[in-house]
Amino acid sequence: MSHCDTIIKGGTFVTMDPEFRILKERFMVIDRGRIVDILPLDKLDLFQSKELIDATGCLVTPGFINTHSHMPMSYFRGLADDLPLDTWLKDYIWPLEAKLVSSDFVYAASLHSAAEMIKNGITLTNDMYFHKERIAEACIRAGLRVIVSEAIIAPNYSGDGHEFAEKVQEFKDAYRDQALVDCALAPHAIYTCSSEVYSSCARLAFDQGWLLHTHLSETPKELEDCLKAHGKRPLEYLASLGVLEAKCVFAHCVWLSGKELELLEDSQSAISICTDSNLKLASGIAPLKDMLKRKLNVAIGTDGVASNNNLDILEELSTTAKLHKAINSDPEFLPARQAFALLTIEGARALGKEQDLGSLEAGKYADLLIIDLQNLQSQPLYNPYSVLVYALGAQQIRDVLIAGEFVMKDGKLSHLDEADLISTAQEYQSKILKELSQ
Ligand SMILES: [Zn+2]
Repeated sequence: MSHCDTIIKGGTFVTMDPEFRILKERFMVIDRGRIVDILPLDKLDLFQSKELIDATGCLVTPGFINTHSHMPMSYFRGLADDLPLDTWLKDYIWPLEAKLVSSDFVYAASLHSAAEMIKNGITLTNDMYFHKERIAEACIRAGLRVIVSEAIIAPNYSGDGHEFAEKVQEFKDAYRDQALVDCALAPHAIYTCSSEVYSSCARLAFDQGWLLHTHLSETPKELEDCLKAHGKRPLEYLASLGVLEAKCVFAHCVWLSGKELELLEDSQSAISICTDSNLKLASGIAPLKDMLKRKLNVAIGTDGVASNNNLDILEELSTTAKLHKAINSDPEFLPARQAFALLTIEGARALGKEQDLGSLEAGKYADLLIIDLQNLQSQPLYNPYSVLVYALGAQQIRDVLIAGEFVMKDGKLSHLDEADLISTAQEYQSKILKELSQ
């Protein structure tokens, strides 16, 4: 008899492996945080586990991967809605950030986001903000996997990037033993960083094998300003600085031309589309059909809740799938299985984590969701992908495991108290309102 930490028995395993296998009458063996195997139930007697999870009547899926977020912005939810991006950033978000965003603010607001993400089935998020150590601390406490990055805002920078390199290296060294945490380089955007920021970050990312995370081509204004300043479109400009040599995640990519998308075909870089944020700020709609026709690596990002306004990434995926069917007058575009891949294996690939995450396969981390199907909204069930993309709500996610550990069990967070998080959010709301009234 073999010993292991956890067995998940019964249910339907939506593996998202290369054959997109859906396995029934099986059990999953988990040991030391990783999936050992998914075996037929008649072999169950061969294993003894410390914990047995019954998933009968449930779907077991890979955890959702959020490829673009700003966790500490949760306290700005609903604060300044219904504005264009430029006004929203310059008149509200940036002044408030300058006055209020301390290390403690970042920790508290990140903890709130970590809880909200877990409740929405997110098991890894690729974040960009300030005070990244506090974001990492919040995620470790919540049990959430995270790639943090310090947003670089340096319009007049002319150096060689050594200070950016030192900060990332320092972080990686300090968190070497924290399997949940990684760090990327994050020039904020072409309108907040000089060309030297991008060229030095690209060189560092390429040399060190680090991920480069940046905003790109979010609004028509960004495109117009870039054409005026550099005589090139945003991605052509970044390509001329060597950025496409590195492994990048470009958030938004709303206004990319066919020629710019072609540049991505030969790169290892990925696109994080942020549909809800782009719709709400009326930034536009990313050319998803063209991206997928070119077989680009596309994944889903929530962006921050100040522009979303929640972290329900399943809703985000559903909106994305339906929106692009409608605007292309093509109901066959982005079928549910392909859509679900954007939230799982394509998300892992976008972040360079596909060897460890994104599907339920032997050797990968046990980052997974157990989703209850015994409810009106999920029945009858003909096709698991259809239920996942078009019917389910996050409230049907019963359990969330990250590296084989429960971070949510029976709908209850394992490491955080929701009532505490809500009262802390309200305390910060009072501080924000006070600041705004001055
Ligand atoms: Zn963003």
